[in-house]
Amino acid sequence: MRTPCHIHRVDCVIDATCQPHTPSTRYAGAALSLGAVAPYGRYADAKALGISDWGPKVPAQLAWCLQELPSLVVPLVCLVRRGWGPTKATNGVLLLCFLAHYANRALVYPLRIRGGAPPPLYVMASAFSFTLVNGYLQAGALGGPWASAVPGDAAFGGGLLLFGAGALGNAHHDALLRSLRLPGETGYKVPVGGLFEYVSGANYLCEMIEWAGFALACRTRAAHIFAACVVFNLAPRAVSHHAWYRDKFGDAYPAQRRALVPFLF
Ligand code: NDP
Repeated sequence: MRTPCHIHRVDCVIDATCQPHTPSTRYAGAALSLGAVAPYGRYADAKALGISDWGPKVPAQLAWCLQELPSLVVPLVCLVRRGWGPTKATNGVLLLCFLAHYANRALVYPLRIRGGAPPPLYVMASAFSFTLVNGYLQAGALGGPWASAVPGDAAFGGGLLLFGAGALGNAHHDALLRSLRLPGETGYKVPVGGLFEYVSGANYLCEMIEWAGFALACRTRAAHIFAACVVFNLAPRAVSHHAWYRDKFGDAYPAQRRALVPFLF
C-alpha cells in the first residue's frame, strides 16, 4: 500500500528537481523527475509533474508485452529485407544479444509478472515509442557494413561478459522480486537475497551493467546513447524506490542497504 507520506515525498522530489534556475535546468529536472516517479508500478497513482490522473490503464502483462515488442520485431523486420544484415560475425553476435534480451522482456517476462500494477496507457505508449526508435537504431547500427566490434578485442570480449552477467543478474533479481508475492497477491515486501542485501535497485543495477557491456562491445554511438538512456531512466527510479521503502518499512528496512551502488550510494 502506498502511504500519503510517500505521495508527499514524491511531490517533494518533483518540486525540488523542478525549481527553475534556467529553462534548461527546469526541463532537465522535470525529465529526471518523471524518470524517478514515472507513473507505473508502485507510482501508478502518484502525482507526477503536477498530474495525478494519467488516464486509462492497461493490464501489466499486456502493457509490458506491447511496449517492449518493437525492439524485437523491428530488427527482425530489418533482417528479412534484402541487402540488409550484419556483414561481420561480431555484429551478428551483438544483434542476437539484443534480440535475446527483448525476446525475454516482451514474451517471457510479462507471462511471469505477479500482481503487477496496471500502467497508464500513456506510459505504455511512451515506452512503445522508445523501443520502436531504439530497436531501429540498434539494428541499423549493427546491420550495416561498418562493423565496429573486433573479434578477440578486449572491449568486445569484456563487453560481452558484462552484458551476459548483467542480463543474468537482471533476470535473477526480477525473479527474486516476483517470489515475494504469492499468486494473487499485489502488496510489497522487503526484497531479500542477492544484491538486494546491498541495494534497493538490484534489478536496475544489473540492467545498467548489461547495457554498459553492450555499449562497450558494440562501440557504436547508438549503443552508447542507449546505455546512457538506461542510466537516466533507472538510476532516479532506484533512488525513488529506496526512499519509498524507507518510508513504508521504517526501521524494518535494512539500514545498511543503499539505493543503487553497494556501500556507496
Ligand atoms: P520494479 O522493480 O519496480 O518491479 C518489478 C516487478 O516486481 C513488478 O511486477 C512489481 O510489482 C514487483 N515488485 C517490485 N518490488 C516489489 C516488492 N518489494 N514486493 C513485491 N513485488 C515487487 O521494476 P520495473 O517494473 O520498473 O521494471 C521491470 C524490469 O524492466 C526491470 O528488470 C527493469 O530493469 C526493466 N526496465 C528497463 C528499462 C530500460 O530502460 N531498459 C526501463 C524500465 C524497466 P508492481 O508492478 O505492482 O510494482
